[in-house]
Amino acid sequence: MQEVNSYYADSAASPLAYPPLQGDQRADICIVGAGYTGLSSALHLAERGYSVIVIEAESVGFGASGRNGGHVGIGQRKDQYYLEKQFGKDIARGLWDMGLEAVDTVKQLIEKHHIDCDLKQGILHLAHRSKYCSELEEEVEHLRHHYQFDQMEYIETAALANFLDSQAYYGAQWDKASLHLHPLKYLQGLAKAASKAGVTVYEQSRVLSYSEGSSIRVATADGTVTASELVLACNGYIEKLEPRINGYIMPINNFVLATEPLSDELAEAVSAQDTAMQDTRFVINYWKLSADNRLIFGGGENYRRGFPSDIKGFVRQYMLQIYPQLENTRIDYGWGGTLAITLNRMPHFGRLGDNIWYLQGYSGHGVPTATFAGKLIAEAISGKLERFDLISNLPTRKFPGGTLLRWPGMVAGMLYFALRDRI
Ligand SMILES: Cc1cc2nc3c(=O)[nH]c(=O)nc-3n(C[C@H](O)[C@H](O)[C@H](O)COP(=O)(O)OP(=O)(O)OC[C@H]3O[C@@H](n4cnc5c(N)ncnc54)[C@H](O)[C@@H]3O)c2cc1C
Repeated sequence: MQEVNSYYADSAASPLAYPPLQGDQRADICIVGAGYTGLSSALHLAERGYSVIVIEAESVGFGASGRNGGHVGIGQRKDQYYLEKQFGKDIARGLWDMGLEAVDTVKQLIEKHHIDCDLKQGILHLAHRSKYCSELEEEVEHLRHHYQFDQMEYIETAALANFLDSQAYYGAQWDKASLHLHPLKYLQGLAKAASKAGVTVYEQSRVLSYSEGSSIRVATADGTVTASELVLACNGYIEKLEPRINGYIMPINNFVLATEPLSDELAEAVSAQDTAMQDTRFVINYWKLSADNRLIFGGGENYRRGFPSDIKGFVRQYMLQIYPQLENTRIDYGWGGTLAITLNRMPHFGRLGDNIWYLQGYSGHGVPTATFAGKLIAEAISGKLERFDLISNLPTRKFPGGTLLRWPGMVAGMLYFALRDRI
């Protein structure tokens, strides 16, 4: 079990406690995993009239959905140039539209279900090398011309001082359409909305196996659920539950700290306009202010099972490279979480047989995309497959070496790119 010394857990309301699964239950749809994917799927399916049971091995928010940076970015994890080149202009356009709709879906869910989750507007994408400035500037123009997107602006070096007091960056894109929020409050709001819509959630109930066929029997240590459809929403925590999809993702750990509440002067130095920020490094640094003016800063990752013993110290070194003025600021929290990446960094959706669905591999872009996945799976299970298939049909590959041998090669690759960030 991963330890959580998280600001989010301390600043969210006490979570609703859901009972463990016991005995034999029935539903139209059984969902494994209570993160954004599982709960958004449950909510959207319940709203279409299905009876839904969600089974969570630990508790709501245990996974990445309760631990992440809270950035709700437009687009996909890969930029439009990549998507156009790999998949053609029409598919790239479809993916762009869905990326915008994903952010909008988050916003609408928050409004509709009155979720109090410190929602704010705007993300700044900062160039950590001068050579990236022209790329960022060109992308703003590309999106304006080819996607009629006018909510992004290029910010020159001299104007960066309007946003942050740091010498670490050379220019930026100011993306006014993206959002940021308190991820655990948002997730708990989804759980509440799902319960209200009639969804049954079980916690502390690890799914150990399931049978296949027109009627699926899902088993935990103390109970079963019989359902017509099964949705696997386990992402980086899936382990050995479904070997047929496991090889398409690689779980990686990413780390976050929260400082003590900052003085107004320091908070202004960190983010004068209260936008979230992230940079162009391969191992991205990302940060924002919390509602009580703490710096929530994510930086650094590892590619093995355990977390560093001193997460605060591990992340602090990245924070100080950007904000040396925080040298004497106390770090109150440090935590990590596990996310799943795919080889091409696009989400990995699909179906095993007729009625086992999977949604995974958001590659660090899951706050909007996993939420949106819930909308797509509800459409797909209701018989409208087009938009689900736009993603499930994207060409994808397993990590070389499968689940056993994907590590050495990939880890070497990831470490190489991480090293390039530093030199
Ligand atoms: C530190 C960190 C920072 C991040 N920052 C951002 C960000 O700023 N913006 C962004 O868009 N994305 C970010 N991400 C990624 C994002 O958090 C994830 O993509 C997203 O939360 C995935 O949601 P999910 O529901 O698919 O998976 P999760 O939230 O991980 O949920 C999966 C759940 O499945 C459960 N489960 C697994 N196996 C079983 C089983 N056998 N039986 C029952 N339950 C099971 C797990 O316990 C877990 O609760 C970040 C991730 C991390 C770790």
